[in-house]
Amino acid sequence: MKKESVMYLQRDKTDFDKYDAIVIGCGFSGAVVSRELADKGKKVLIVEKKNEISGMMADYTDENGICIHKYGPHVFMLNSEEVLDYLKRFCELVPVTNYVHAFIEGRYVSIPANFYSFDALYGEEKSKRLQEKMIALYGEGKEVHILTMRNSEDAEIRELADDLYEKIFVGYNAKMWGLKPEELDPSIPGRLPIRVSYNNKNCKKKYELIPSKGYIELFNSIIDSSNIDILLDTKAADIINLAGGKIKINGKDYPGIVVYTAPLDELFSYEFGELPYRALHFEIDVFDGKREAPSAVTTFPMNFEKVRTTDMVELLDQKVKGYVANVSEYPGAYDKDSEKFNVPAYPVLNDSSAAIIAKYKEKADAIDHFYYVGRLAEFKYFDMEASIGSALRCSEKILEGEA
Ligand SMILES: Cc1cc2nc3c(=O)[nH]c(=O)nc-3n(C[C@H](O)[C@H](O)[C@H](O)COP(=O)(O)OP(=O)(O)OC[C@H]3O[C@@H](n4cnc5c(N)ncnc54)[C@H](O)[C@@H]3O)c2cc1C
Repeated sequence: MKKESVMYLQRDKTDFDKYDAIVIGCGFSGAVVSRELADKGKKVLIVEKKNEISGMMADYTDENGICIHKYGPHVFMLNSEEVLDYLKRFCELVPVTNYVHAFIEGRYVSIPANFYSFDALYGEEKSKRLQEKMIALYGEGKEVHILTMRNSEDAEIRELADDLYEKIFVGYNAKMWGLKPEELDPSIPGRLPIRVSYNNKNCKKKYELIPSKGYIELFNSIIDSSNIDILLDTKAADIINLAGGKIKINGKDYPGIVVYTAPLDELFSYEFGELPYRALHFEIDVFDGKREAPSAVTTFPMNFEKVRTTDMVELLDQKVKGYVANVSEYPGAYDKDSEKFNVPAYPVLNDSSAAIIAKYKEKADAIDHFYYVGRLAEFKYFDMEASIGSALRCSEKILEGEA
């Protein structure tokens, strides 16, 4: 539902001059900055390329009354009290507890690896032996990394490390990042955690929460200000021109603030090359029946093309009995012209992309009243907590700098 106080505009009827700030993109980065500026009396225009708000968090309710996250499951995992308090201004948050299993050789194996995973993979007797050895070596309740286990003097523990690495990590990451197993960063297995306990909770942060009325409602609430107007279906490049380091909007010099939350390479016409992203194609399958997987989220490290399937009914603890609503994610290389993989999901961080983004950032930094923030513009992996935190910091910087 669109809120009364927010005006949805048409491009040919938009008077860009009347806005103190133009914010590109309406994910968390754009929505939070817009609201912060609006609360300080600035008149803000949000320009969003899609026909909807909420960025990657967009959801909808289907004909069965089931809430579905269009671009993959989104759950707040928070430590920051600041972000928690900020969200509470705009929505009611309800706790959820989610578990994850990997589907390996026909079995559902608890993730992150823990003693339940040992039971599922190796059977009771061997699992017990491995558990005792792990407790003796590393201490009950601890979390140990694969690399540490690989250095163990016990051959069975070294074998366990290699097996878990192969089964849980290699296939998943090769698929996710489009790499051959031997091309995976060798330092990463070191970071793969193995729990010396039956602790199978996925979330390691203080709070695991979802907005009780969904994300679109949350976003409607954030942007619900008479100082905010929105222009949908409009790409930044259609209205912004930065030639000569000056901001022009719709062909005219623009003295106001521009906050950009979309990819910088696109804005600068790919002058220094395209930034590499992995993208996801989503398939949604809602049916009347029972879920086979033991938890809402199942990852597929081996054999399948998909990397993850999430049952939205279980994930959001929805009271729609008898339904399974699976959202499956298929990874591929981002290509702006592709039909399936045209939404950038994860930045591919390597030396070459670091050099490219540094050039775009240098160019953007030289433009007065131009700010960039968010997972796309900053070319960083941000979860929602980090996005909101970063948007709040950016808003402070703008309000201080433009006072
Ligand atoms: C599959 C998946 C699952 C995730 N799950 C979680 C989770 O469970 N928990 C969590 O905390 N985080 C999760 N995240 C991360 C979360 O999606 C990001 O933190 C969040 O999207 C960042 O918000 P943002 O505003 O920076 O970017 P976005 O949400 O991407 O918003 C950018 C906006 O800009 C618009 N835009 C892009 N280009 C243009 C253009 N040229 N002109 C105008 N508008 C443009 C886009 O349409 C979009 O609306 C997940 C991410 C993915 C990919």
